[in-house]
Amino acid sequence: MRLVDSHAHLQAEAFAADADLVLRAARLAGVERLLAPGWDLPSSRDSVALAERWPRVDASAGIHPHAASTVDDGMWGEIAALARDERVVAVGETGLDYDRGFSTREAQLANLRRHLALALELRKPAILHCRSRPGQRDAQDDLLRELLAAGIERSGSRSPLGGRPPALLHSFSGPVDYGERALELGLAISFSGLVFRRGEEVSATVARLVPAEHLLVETDSPYLSPPGAPRRRNEPRWVEVTARWLAEQRGEDPEALGEGLVRAYDATFGTS
Ligand SMILES: [Zn+2]
Repeated sequence: MRLVDSHAHLQAEAFAADADLVLRAARLAGVERLLAPGWDLPSSRDSVALAERWPRVDASAGIHPHAASTVDDGMWGEIAALARDERVVAVGETGLDYDRGFSTREAQLANLRRHLALALELRKPAILHCRSRPGQRDAQDDLLRELLAAGIERSGSRSPLGGRPPALLHSFSGPVDYGERALELGLAISFSGLVFRRGEEVSATVARLVPAEHLLVETDSPYLSPPGAPRRRNEPRWVEVTARWLAEQRGEDPEALGEGLVRAYDATFGTS
Protein backbone atom coordinates (compact mmCIF):
# COMPACT_ATOMS: atom_id res chain seq x y z
CA MET A 1 0.00 0.00 0.00
CA ARG A 2 1.36 3.42 -0.96
CA LEU A 3 1.39 5.75 2.03
CA VAL A 4 2.24 9.24 3.21
CA ASP A 5 2.48 10.72 6.69
CA SER A 6 1.30 14.33 6.56
CA HIS A 7 2.32 15.04 10.17
CA ALA A 8 5.18 13.36 12.05
CA HIS A 9 7.46 15.24 14.44
CA LEU A 10 10.64 13.40 13.48
CA GLN A 11 12.70 16.19 15.02
CA ALA A 12 11.21 15.46 18.46
CA GLU A 13 13.44 14.34 21.31
CA ALA A 14 11.84 10.87 21.10
CA PHE A 15 13.63 10.32 17.76
CA ALA A 16 16.97 11.94 18.63
CA ALA A 17 18.79 8.61 18.77
CA ASP A 18 17.39 6.82 15.72
CA ALA A 19 15.50 9.10 13.33
CA ASP A 20 17.27 7.57 10.32
CA LEU A 21 16.21 4.04 11.33
CA VAL A 22 12.66 5.22 11.92
CA LEU A 23 12.60 6.80 8.49
CA ARG A 24 13.98 3.66 6.87
CA ALA A 25 11.29 1.54 8.59
CA ALA A 26 8.69 3.98 7.29
CA ARG A 27 10.02 3.64 3.73
CA LEU A 28 9.85 -0.15 3.99
CA ALA A 29 6.24 0.14 5.19
CA GLY A 30 5.36 2.13 2.06
CA VAL A 31 5.57 5.70 3.38
CA GLU A 32 6.74 7.68 0.36
CA ARG A 33 6.59 11.21 1.75
CA LEU A 34 6.45 12.68 5.18
CA LEU A 35 6.01 16.16 6.59
CA ALA A 36 7.85 16.94 9.84
CA PRO A 37 6.05 20.01 11.19
CA GLY A 38 7.74 22.56 13.41
CA TRP A 39 5.94 23.59 16.61
CA ASP A 40 8.28 26.40 17.75
CA LEU A 41 11.36 28.16 16.41
CA PRO A 42 14.00 25.45 17.12
CA SER A 43 11.78 22.63 15.84
CA SER A 44 10.96 24.65 12.71
CA ARG A 45 14.68 25.08 12.05
CA ASP A 46 15.13 21.34 12.65
CA SER A 47 12.29 20.63 10.23
CA VAL A 48 14.20 22.43 7.45
CA ALA A 49 17.39 20.57 8.41
CA LEU A 50 15.55 17.23 8.12
CA ALA A 51 14.17 18.15 4.71
CA GLU A 52 17.68 19.11 3.63
CA ARG A 53 19.03 15.76 4.75
CA TRP A 54 16.23 13.51 3.45
CA PRO A 55 14.67 14.20 0.07
CA ARG A 56 11.35 12.57 0.96
CA VAL A 57 10.86 14.71 4.05
CA ASP A 58 9.10 18.07 3.79
CA ALA A 59 9.36 20.97 6.20
CA SER A 60 7.00 23.45 7.80
CA ALA A 61 7.56 26.39 10.13
CA GLY A 62 5.20 27.64 12.80
CA ILE A 63 4.20 28.05 16.42
CA HIS A 64 1.89 25.52 18.10
CA PRO A 65 -0.97 27.01 20.13
CA HIS A 66 0.63 25.54 23.27
CA ALA A 67 3.63 27.82 22.70
CA ALA A 68 1.65 30.89 21.56
CA SER A 69 2.26 32.81 24.81
CA THR A 70 6.04 32.41 24.53
CA VAL A 71 6.43 34.06 21.12
CA ASP A 72 7.73 37.59 20.75
CA ASP A 73 7.93 39.63 17.56
CA GLY A 74 11.59 38.76 17.00
CA MET A 75 10.85 35.06 17.14
CA TRP A 76 7.88 35.47 14.85
CA GLY A 77 10.07 37.35 12.36
CA GLU A 78 12.40 34.35 12.26
CA ILE A 79 9.48 31.95 11.71
CA ALA A 80 8.19 34.14 8.88
CA ALA A 81 11.66 34.21 7.29
CA LEU A 82 12.01 30.43 7.58
CA ALA A 83 8.57 29.94 6.05
CA ARG A 84 9.85 31.53 2.82
CA ASP A 85 12.45 28.78 2.40
CA GLU A 86 11.59 26.62 -0.61
CA ARG A 87 11.92 23.44 1.47
CA VAL A 88 9.13 24.73 3.68
CA VAL A 89 5.90 23.57 2.05
CA ALA A 90 3.42 24.71 4.73
CA VAL A 91 2.91 27.22 7.55
CA GLY A 92 2.40 25.71 11.02
CA GLU A 93 1.58 23.83 12.93
CA THR A 94 -0.60 26.40 14.55
CA GLY A 95 -4.24 26.52 15.61
CA LEU A 96 -6.26 26.53 18.82
CA ASP A 97 -6.15 24.22 21.82
CA TYR A 98 -8.82 24.99 24.41
CA ASP A 99 -8.45 21.55 25.96
CA ARG A 100 -5.11 21.87 27.68
CA GLY A 101 -4.86 25.67 27.62
CA PHE A 102 -1.07 26.02 27.89
CA SER A 103 -1.40 29.50 26.36
CA THR A 104 -4.20 32.02 26.88
CA ARG A 105 -6.95 32.10 24.26
CA GLU A 106 -6.00 35.66 23.36
CA ALA A 107 -2.40 34.61 22.67
CA GLN A 108 -3.57 31.59 20.65
CA LEU A 109 -5.90 33.70 18.53
CA ALA A 110 -3.23 36.33 17.83
CA ASN A 111 -0.77 33.57 16.95
CA LEU A 112 -3.28 31.89 14.64
CA ARG A 113 -4.11 35.15 12.85
CA ARG A 114 -0.56 35.88 11.85
CA HIS A 115 -0.02 32.34 10.64
CA LEU A 116 -3.13 32.52 8.44
CA ALA A 117 -2.04 35.85 6.98
CA LEU A 118 1.44 34.47 6.30
CA ALA A 119 0.08 31.30 4.71
CA LEU A 120 -2.10 33.29 2.32
CA GLU A 121 0.74 35.69 1.53
CA LEU A 122 3.19 32.87 0.78
CA ARG A 123 0.55 30.67 -0.89
CA LYS A 124 1.48 27.77 1.36
CA PRO A 125 -1.22 25.85 3.23
CA ALA A 126 -1.63 26.41 6.97
CA ILE A 127 -1.43 23.31 9.21
CA LEU A 128 -4.13 23.65 11.84
CA HIS A 129 -4.40 21.91 15.20
CA CYS A 130 -7.79 22.29 16.88
CA ARG A 131 -9.00 20.71 20.12
CA SER A 132 -11.80 21.61 22.51
CA ARG A 133 -12.49 20.09 25.90
CA PRO A 134 -14.35 16.75 25.66
CA GLY A 135 -17.93 17.32 24.50
CA GLN A 136 -17.31 20.96 23.57
CA ARG A 137 -16.70 22.70 20.24
CA ASP A 138 -15.68 26.26 21.05
CA ALA A 139 -12.18 25.89 19.57
CA GLN A 140 -13.63 24.52 16.31
CA ASP A 141 -16.18 27.35 16.11
CA ASP A 142 -13.51 29.96 16.78
CA LEU A 143 -11.24 28.39 14.16
CA LEU A 144 -13.93 28.55 11.46
CA ARG A 145 -14.63 32.18 12.35
CA GLU A 146 -10.92 33.04 12.11
CA LEU A 147 -10.58 31.27 8.75
CA LEU A 148 -13.42 33.38 7.37
CA ALA A 149 -12.00 36.58 8.86
CA ALA A 150 -8.63 35.81 7.25
CA GLY A 151 -10.33 35.56 3.85
CA ILE A 152 -9.55 31.90 3.35
CA GLU A 153 -12.82 31.25 1.49
CA ARG A 154 -11.67 33.60 -1.27
CA SER A 155 -8.67 31.36 -1.82
CA GLY A 156 -10.69 28.69 -3.63
CA SER A 157 -10.56 28.28 -7.36
CA ARG A 158 -9.34 31.79 -8.13
CA SER A 159 -6.28 31.83 -5.85
CA PRO A 160 -4.31 32.85 -3.76
CA LEU A 161 -3.50 29.13 -3.74
CA GLY A 162 -5.15 28.19 -7.02
CA GLY A 163 -7.11 24.99 -6.57
CA ARG A 164 -4.93 23.86 -3.65
CA PRO A 165 -6.33 23.63 -0.12
CA PRO A 166 -5.49 26.89 1.70
CA ALA A 167 -5.18 24.96 4.96
CA LEU A 168 -5.50 21.51 6.43
CA LEU A 169 -7.11 20.30 9.62
CA HIS A 170 -4.47 18.05 11.12
CA SER A 171 -5.45 15.14 13.39
CA PHE A 172 -9.13 15.79 12.84
CA SER A 173 -11.30 16.14 15.94
CA GLY A 174 -14.73 17.75 16.06
CA PRO A 175 -18.38 17.55 15.07
CA VAL A 176 -19.57 16.53 11.60
CA ASP A 177 -20.86 19.98 10.59
CA TYR A 178 -17.45 21.48 11.43
CA GLY A 179 -15.82 19.00 9.06
CA GLU A 180 -18.42 19.80 6.40
CA ARG A 181 -17.87 23.53 6.76
CA ALA A 182 -14.10 23.09 6.49
CA LEU A 183 -14.56 21.11 3.28
CA GLU A 184 -16.83 23.85 1.89
CA LEU A 185 -14.00 26.29 2.55
CA GLY A 186 -11.70 24.07 0.48
CA LEU A 187 -9.63 22.71 3.38
CA ALA A 188 -7.96 19.31 3.41
CA ILE A 189 -8.55 16.99 6.38
CA SER A 190 -5.93 14.68 7.87
CA PHE A 191 -6.85 11.78 10.16
CA SER A 192 -4.58 10.32 12.85
CA GLY A 193 -4.73 7.59 15.50
CA LEU A 194 -6.99 9.96 17.43
CA VAL A 195 -9.92 8.45 15.48
CA PHE A 196 -9.58 5.30 17.60
CA ARG A 197 -10.00 7.14 20.90
CA ARG A 198 -13.22 7.24 22.88
CA GLY A 199 -15.22 10.41 22.18
CA GLU A 200 -13.88 10.70 18.61
CA GLU A 201 -16.42 8.31 17.02
CA VAL A 202 -17.93 10.92 14.68
CA SER A 203 -14.60 11.10 12.85
CA ALA A 204 -15.76 7.99 10.99
CA THR A 205 -18.67 9.96 9.51
CA VAL A 206 -16.38 12.81 8.49
CA ALA A 207 -13.91 10.33 6.96
CA ARG A 208 -16.62 9.24 4.54
CA LEU A 209 -17.39 12.83 3.47
CA VAL A 210 -13.91 14.01 2.46
CA PRO A 211 -13.25 14.04 -1.29
CA ALA A 212 -10.19 11.96 -2.18
CA GLU A 213 -8.19 14.99 -3.31
CA HIS A 214 -8.59 16.57 0.15
CA LEU A 215 -8.02 13.43 2.21
CA LEU A 216 -4.77 13.05 4.14
CA VAL A 217 -3.48 10.69 6.81
CA GLU A 218 -0.87 11.10 9.52
CA THR A 219 0.60 9.65 12.70
CA ASP A 220 1.36 12.85 14.67
CA SER A 221 4.39 10.84 15.83
CA PRO A 222 5.59 10.43 18.53
CA TYR A 223 2.02 10.92 19.84
CA LEU A 224 -1.40 9.32 19.23
CA SER A 225 -0.36 5.69 18.69
CA PRO A 226 -3.08 3.77 16.84
CA PRO A 227 -4.08 0.28 18.02
CA GLY A 228 -1.15 -2.10 17.54
CA ALA A 229 1.54 0.57 17.71
CA PRO A 230 3.69 0.97 20.84
CA ARG A 231 1.97 3.41 23.24
CA ARG A 232 5.34 4.77 24.31
CA ARG A 233 6.31 6.12 20.89
CA ASN A 234 4.32 6.25 17.69
CA GLU A 235 6.26 6.11 14.39
CA PRO A 236 5.45 7.01 10.77
CA ARG A 237 5.29 3.35 9.69
CA TRP A 238 2.13 2.94 11.82
CA VAL A 239 0.29 5.35 9.54
CA GLU A 240 -0.88 2.24 7.71
CA VAL A 241 -3.25 1.40 10.58
CA THR A 242 -5.17 4.65 10.14
CA ALA A 243 -4.97 4.46 6.33
CA ARG A 244 -6.57 1.00 6.39
CA TRP A 245 -9.24 2.28 8.76
CA LEU A 246 -9.97 5.05 6.25
CA ALA A 247 -10.29 2.52 3.43
CA GLU A 248 -12.69 0.46 5.54
CA GLN A 249 -14.85 3.46 6.51
CA ARG A 250 -15.02 4.62 2.90
CA GLY A 251 -15.57 1.16 1.45
CA GLU A 252 -12.53 1.59 -0.78
CA ASP A 253 -9.80 -0.75 -1.86
CA PRO A 254 -6.73 0.05 0.32
CA GLU A 255 -4.41 0.13 -2.72
CA ALA A 256 -6.61 2.65 -4.50
CA LEU A 257 -6.94 4.71 -1.34
CA GLY A 258 -3.15 4.74 -0.97
CA GLU A 259 -2.73 6.06 -4.53
CA GLY A 260 -5.18 8.81 -3.66
CA LEU A 261 -3.32 9.71 -0.47
CA VAL A 262 -0.06 10.21 -2.34
CA ARG A 263 -1.80 12.38 -4.94
CA ALA A 264 -3.59 14.44 -2.26
CA TYR A 265 -0.32 14.98 -0.39
CA ASP A 266 1.49 16.22 -3.49
CA ALA A 267 -1.46 18.40 -4.53
CA THR A 268 -1.78 19.93 -1.06
CA PHE A 269 1.88 20.68 -0.48
CA GLY A 270 2.93 21.23 -4.10
CA THR A 271 5.53 18.49 -3.82
CA SER A 272 4.83 16.42 -6.94
ZN1 LIG B 1 1.66 18.03 15.74
